[in-house]
Amino acid sequence: MKARKRIGLVAHDARKADLVEWVKYNEGTLARHELCATGTTGRLLQTQCPSLDIARLKSGPLGGDQQLGAMIAEGNLDILIFFTDPMSTQPHDVDVKALVRMSTVYNIVLAMTRATADFVINSSLFGRDDYRRTVPDYDGYILRHANKA
Ligand code: PGA
Repeated sequence: MKARKRIGLVAHDARKADLVEWVKYNEGTLARHELCATGTTGRLLQTQCPSLDIARLKSGPLGGDQQLGAMIAEGNLDILIFFTDPMSTQPHDVDVKALVRMSTVYNIVLAMTRATADFVINSSLFGRDDYRRTVPDYDGYILRHANKA
């Protein structure tokens, strides 16, 4: 991973204040990285943390979560900070699950709680370029029908 990390920021409505507070607290560190966020989260962050350059995707339920999933699948996201609401059902639950699944499939750094996000941003690996993220070998899966013809 390069020292300048590509970081996605997403929060469900009940967790947006929490994420804004976390981003504000870590503004200096985050400013050295490439940031993107789902639509509404991004708009809030742009207002509350004007010093940060944050690319805005579509709103999560309108495709933003899927855009992030595509970035992960294409190797364009290193870290996802994803504050989910454990107390309510989301209309886009399938997208939420898909995003978490893609994060797991490609072994990116995924922080779904503020405590985990604190540990991630304070890790000595955060600003370094010598961490090699391994992606599991899916060749067996990809080629599973290759010899059956
Ligand atoms: P939002 O999306 O930032 O547009 O509210 C968040 C989400 O994916 O639930």
